[in-house]
Amino acid sequence: MRTCPICNAPQTDDECHCGFSFVETRIVNRDLIRSHMAKLKHDSWQQLIKTKHRINETQKLGVSKIAELLGETKGLTSNHLKLAQALIAYPELESCPNISRANERLNQLSNSAIPGDVRFAYEADLQDILFSSWSTIPEFAHFNLVQK
Ligand SMILES: [Zn+2]
Repeated sequence: MRTCPICNAPQTDDECHCGFSFVETRIVNRDLIRSHMAKLKHDSWQQLIKTKHRINETQKLGVSKIAELLGETKGLTSNHLKLAQALIAYPELESCPNISRANERLNQLSNSAIPGDVRFAYEADLQDILFSSWSTIPEFAHFNLVQK
C-alpha cells in the first residue's frame, strides 16, 4: 500500500483515481484529475487549495501547465497557489467559509501587520514593531532578521 502524492489516498493500483500514475510518477489522466478537483471544490476549499499546492510541489509544472491540466485560468491557479502558501503562514485562514473570504482575510492580514497610519516618535518603537511582526509580513519572507 502506498499513498498517492496528489490526493493522499492509499492506493494499490498503478493508477490512482485522481489520475496520478505511480509508474510514470505524474498525473496521466486529465479527466480524472479534473473530476477529482471538481469534487474537492464541492466538498472542501481547503483540500482543493492544498491539492493544487501538492500538484505544484510534486509535478514541477509551473502555473501555466497546472492551469492547462486543470482547465482553469492562470490567474485562478496562481491565486490558489498563493493562498496555499498563506494557509501555512496563517493557519486561521482555514476557518474561512470559502475562498473569496479567505482572500479577503489574507488581504487584511497582510495589510495590518504594520498599521499604515502609525507614526513613530522614536526609532526604537519602529524597531520594536518590525521585530515583533517580521514573520507575519509576507514581503519580508526572503529576508533574515539579524539581531545585534
Ligand atoms: Zn491520487
